[in-house]
Amino acid sequence: MVTAIEQQYIDGHPGSAERHAEAKNLFPDGVTHDTRRLSPFPIYATHGLGPHKWDVDGNKLIDYYTGHGSLILGHSHPDIVEAVTKQMQLGTHLSASTDLEIAWGNLVTDLIDCAEKVRFHSSGTEATMMAFRMARAYTGKNKIIKFQDHFHGWHDYAMAGNSVVGGIPEETLDSMIVLPPNDLNAVELTLSQRSDIAAIILEPTGSHMGQHAVTQDFVKGLREATRQYGVVLIFDEVVTGFRTSRGGAQEYYGITPDMCTMAKILGGGLPGGAVAGKAEIINMIEMTGDPVHDNSRRVQHNGTFNANPLSAAAGIQALSIVKHNPINDTANAMADMLKNGLNDMLAQNEIPGCVSGIASCIWLRLGVDHECDREVCILSPQETEIIDHPGRKTQLELAMMNHGIHAGTRFIVMAAHTETDIQDTVSATEKALIDLRNQGMI
Ligand code: PMP
Repeated sequence: MVTAIEQQYIDGHPGSAERHAEAKNLFPDGVTHDTRRLSPFPIYATHGLGPHKWDVDGNKLIDYYTGHGSLILGHSHPDIVEAVTKQMQLGTHLSASTDLEIAWGNLVTDLIDCAEKVRFHSSGTEATMMAFRMARAYTGKNKIIKFQDHFHGWHDYAMAGNSVVGGIPEETLDSMIVLPPNDLNAVELTLSQRSDIAAIILEPTGSHMGQHAVTQDFVKGLREATRQYGVVLIFDEVVTGFRTSRGGAQEYYGITPDMCTMAKILGGGLPGGAVAGKAEIINMIEMTGDPVHDNSRRVQHNGTFNANPLSAAAGIQALSIVKHNPINDTANAMADMLKNGLNDMLAQNEIPGCVSGIASCIWLRLGVDHECDREVCILSPQETEIIDHPGRKTQLELAMMNHGIHAGTRFIVMAAHTETDIQDTVSATEKALIDLRNQGMI
């Protein structure tokens, strides 16, 4: 049976429905990214400007999907558009080193504490894959510790701990050790009992962009334990880099890892990735003249689009703007305003839950009354199960779009969002939640 929310969505999006019918014959489930699946169908977008985007039916949305976290300046920032347009005319791939990659690399080392040296890729997935390989080559050890539910891209190693592992060799998954987050004892026990651990990787504000938070004490404990046992600590800053603060989660916590991986904001809205860290680890790629190192221990790294001129041009603009302007402060202030507005609205409507999160990545957690400081919200597995109710999440996302907001339970705030956008978002979310209540879902 079609719900009232779904009917309103279907009525308001005939163009998207038509396109999805065609796309189903082209792509599995009709989509090109697993998280773009949406029942009855996803929207088809035409363009974006600042904090807004439009779909093929002419609906205007306030955007909190934010280019999957890659846009902190808003859609089509004029400086980025100008730099990329100019570069298009100069060439998209010169099969040569460029001044652009030097400027981009300098911005990364200026902004990111652990970054003594850098290597560029085309995505976050490539960056974490390379980080694992570098840490293994550097330490001569094989195993990598990751944490349950922490996402590091879709390559075979990163999928360890996931229940969906079709096509991934057991041997690859066996080279990973998956531990529960926020459990330092489990980490210390593993490090003390095994001598084959090359590295520990984590999403430093918690899994899925901070959805399931980790505590600062846990991150600090990981730094101490990895130092004690000679294990490489990798912060996956694909989301948090240049967002949680200008210098990422490492600046926010004041905890410097040995390496970090970056993507998203790094590329200014174009594809880009990088691994950075201690020179002696990143230099595992370097030729030394020692035949044993060069011909066997060295890390090899090709990649047609590494540091490609278009992404570099966009990335330079994005990182320069972040470096020289209070972009993070603005995005955080807008996120705080949204957090407070939504929490007040939940209280007024007697809806159990909270809106919480660090910096400009915040989460609407519905269904459970609980105490938290509105930043680091840690819930029991039972509470998490109630909050993650998949049917309600879909209805919420559709209802939000019916009221002009592209967000689900997650809001990735940009510096481009204005106070008016935030006020409109609070009232639209209230309407969406009333729709959910009318369907008996809250
Ligand atoms: N690490 C984290 C923390 C991510 O959130 C993501 C993507 N959402 C990735 C790695 C993978 O990045 P990409 O999609 O650019 O491959």
